[in-house]
Amino acid sequence: MYVMSCCKDQRFLKGQLCRYANIELSPSAGVLNYGQGVYEGMKANRTQDGRILLFRADQNAGRMRHGAERMCMPSPSIDQFIDAVKETVSANKRWIPPPGKGSLYVRPMLLGTGPILGLAPAPEYTFLIYVSPVGYYFKEGTAPLNLYIEEEYVRASPGGAGGVKSITNYAPVMKAITKAKDRGFSDVLYLDAINKKYLEEVSSCNIFIVKGNVISTPATNGTILEGVTRKSIIEIAKDHGYQVEERSVAVDELVDADDAVVESTKNNLFPVK
Ligand SMILES: *Cc1c(COP(=O)(O)O)cnc(C)c1O
Repeated sequence: MYVMSCCKDQRFLKGQLCRYANIELSPSAGVLNYGQGVYEGMKANRTQDGRILLFRADQNAGRMRHGAERMCMPSPSIDQFIDAVKETVSANKRWIPPPGKGSLYVRPMLLGTGPILGLAPAPEYTFLIYVSPVGYYFKEGTAPLNLYIEEEYVRASPGGAGGVKSITNYAPVMKAITKAKDRGFSDVLYLDAINKKYLEEVSSCNIFIVKGNVISTPATNGTILEGVTRKSIIEIAKDHGYQVEERSVAVDELVDADDAVVESTKNNLFPVK
């Protein structure tokens, strides 16, 4: 894993690789007490001709910087982030599955690790990257997903931190996911917090609906995570002649859509039943 630290109001300077191991934290670490942390998720893949590819790592780096700003944390520069990811992936080359068999999932994190009792930004920060080989995210393989449309719990609300990969966004949805899985669903589809009428996203994936030549996806307005996959699909779909609409998508539109698809780095692309 890769570790780099810095103090509040300072810049990250230099990190290093070390063996994957537990990290030591003060019980009063900001991240443990107040959830001051953001993470990223990306993949390294092996190609047929033996190269190793990352997908738009600069986008993840930029998103971490944006999230860090929202959570009052210093963050590595775009170049520091990308160099650290490359270093970590190359040190773990032997764990990258063969082409078509899976990927090496890369998990960068930025955590407020310094001790702080009062509710304020931590005095010290740690940027850390660890990796793990992965196969399919959903147990369905490539079969369509059954999503539970959640009407009680919301994932994010206007003015909150739903638009950034803050660690505080994920434990609160475990209840909804557990409930959905207990009922035989694969995941949860969240609706907007105010009207409970418009699509937001799935627990860690964005959603698109397709009707004829038009692809629609909920607009990002601070409650939806701006996925790198989402952005890439929008660009590619336009190149292929589709009309792409980023707008409010009512849940009722699912009924007469030709197709619905959820996607993220974790699961790539998934059809919805
Ligand atoms: C990470 C994440 C996504 C997908 O983002 P990608 O950059 O495409 O992997 C979508 N929604 C949520 C809530 C996420 O945390």
